[in-house]
Amino acid sequence: MRRLFYKGLLADTIEITGSDAHHLMHVMRAKAGQEIILVDDENQVARMEMTAFREDAVTLTLRQRLEADTESPIDLVLAQCLLKSDKMDMVVQKAVELGAVGVIPVRSQNCVVRYDAKKAAARQQRWQKIADEAAKQCGRTALLTVDPVTDIKALIAAEKEQEDSVLVFFYENEDQQTVKDYLRQITAKRIVLLVGPEGGFSLAEAKAVEEAGGKSVTLGPRILRAETAALTALSVVQYECGDLG
Ligand code: SAH
Repeated sequence: MRRLFYKGLLADTIEITGSDAHHLMHVMRAKAGQEIILVDDENQVARMEMTAFREDAVTLTLRQRLEADTESPIDLVLAQCLLKSDKMDMVVQKAVELGAVGVIPVRSQNCVVRYDAKKAAARQQRWQKIADEAAKQCGRTALLTVDPVTDIKALIAAEKEQEDSVLVFFYENEDQQTVKDYLRQITAKRIVLLVGPEGGFSLAEAKAVEEAGGKSVTLGPRILRAETAALTALSVVQYECGDLG
């Protein structure tokens, strides 16, 4: 059944306007009597019937509240250094499926792609749209937030200030600390995964991340492509600390 993320709180009747109403009426060609799943701002989920249509609004009537929270107990955030366009799109989509609550696109020294401010803002919008679509498709009860493109230095500074949060640094040159051992020590609710670009991290970046408290870990003896590393990182952390498996 179609899923709609509603900016507001669940009620006995709700009026949908704007692009969602347009989509229901003109793209889905919805008819009175059809039902959709509504997810509100507090992750409440309900089955709603479309009971009335006006030119620019659809009225929904509550039929059944559902116990359907699909959110992970951990707040998993992927800080992903910019990848070539199709790879980044894919990583954002899969991060939603793997239960992340946020993606921070990170600009670092060895990123091959370079966006000016205008292009970066357009990309953020595009990734957010991809994330919203993925959330509907995979039955999430909350939307993932895609942040604006952030410089790695700003990311490091911001993460240093976070409480009840750890920064896990997936570093291709780490050969001692395995992610498996490290994850077993984590108790923080928020877990941020930093994954490099195709070109990897510079030595100066690695040093700065570690000085700020980032914990460098290895995913094993093979060098993974950045997108493989991102999806593997999300999966193993969600498996060990969250709700996967
Ligand atoms: N060009 C680099 C590899 C970059 S791989 C080189 O040849 O050394 C891209 C990113 O994937 C890395 O920056 C890192 O974040 C992640 N990654 C790849 N393999 C990894 C591994 N075995 N352990 C931890 N992170 C890894």
